[in-house]
Amino acid sequence: MLRLAGHELEPVSDTPQLDAEVLMCQVLRVSAAGLIARGRERLDEVSARTFRRHIARRLRGEPVAYITGEREFWSMRLRVTPDTLIPRPETERLVELALERIPAHADWTIVDLGTGSGAIALAIASERPQCRLIATDHSAAALVVAKQNAQRHRVENVRFIHADWLDFPHDCQYPMILSNPPYIEAGDPHLQQGDVRFEPETALVSGGQGLDDIQEIAKQSLLRLADNGYLLVECGHEQGEAVADYMLRLGYNDAVIKEDIGGRDRVVIAQKPVAEEA
Ligand code: GLN
Repeated sequence: MLRLAGHELEPVSDTPQLDAEVLMCQVLRVSAAGLIARGRERLDEVSARTFRRHIARRLRGEPVAYITGEREFWSMRLRVTPDTLIPRPETERLVELALERIPAHADWTIVDLGTGSGAIALAIASERPQCRLIATDHSAAALVVAKQNAQRHRVENVRFIHADWLDFPHDCQYPMILSNPPYIEAGDPHLQQGDVRFEPETALVSGGQGLDDIQEIAKQSLLRLADNGYLLVECGHEQGEAVADYMLRLGYNDAVIKEDIGGRDRVVIAQKPVAEEA
C-alpha cells in the first residue's frame, strides 16, 4: 500500500514516497523506525481507510502538515492548522542566528512578531529559559494554536499577545526583536503552486515587492529596541540587499545578510545604534 501510494503521489509531490510514509506513521501512530519494524504487517481495515483518505487529500494538493496536523521545528513537534504557516527548515537558521547573540544566562525580554504556530518564540524560549518571550500575531486563530504548542511542550516563558506587529503596550525597550513576516510579492507565480496554495495568504504575501511588512517592522522596531538591540528578520532569497539597504537608510547599524544552508539570502540582522548624548 505504501509503495502504491508513493507512485500515486508522484505527479503532485517532490517527495512522494516520504509523504506516503509520514501519512502512514500518522495513521498507525508510530515513528519512522516503528514503520520499518512493522513494515510487513497487514493493515487493518480502519487504518487502511484512513490512509486512503489521507492520500486522497494529498492528491488534491493539501500539504502533508495540514493532513497530519503537525510539523517538526527545532526538534519540537508543533501543531499546525490552515490558520498558521507551516514552519520551514530555513527559519531554524533565524533561530540559530538569534541564539548566537543571546548569552546563555541572559534574562532578556525578546519579541517574536507574527508568531503563527509559535515556532520561533517556542524554540528561543526553550533554549533560553531565563528569557521572557512576547509573541504577537494579528490572527487570533493562529494564537490559539501557538498557545496549544506552548502547553504541549511545557514552555512557560512565552506571553502571547493579539496585536498588529508592535502595536501593544510596552514596559521596556527590547534587546532583540525577531520576525518571519510575509515577504512574497503579490502575483508571484509560486503562490499558485504546491503547499503555499493552502496556507494563509496574510502569512505569505506582502505588497508589490514583498517588502511592505519587513519595512513596517523595521520602522516600528527602531522605536522599541534598546541601544545596541538586534532586529532579525527572515526575507526572500532575492531580498537581502534591499532589506539591508532599507535598514541602513532608516538608521540601523551594520545590517548584515545571512544565508540559509542552501546558500541563499535568508536573514537580515541589524543593530540599533546607541543614542547620542545631547
Ligand atoms: N519561505 C516561505 C516560502 O517561500 C515564505 C514564508 C514567508 O513569507 N515568511 O514559501
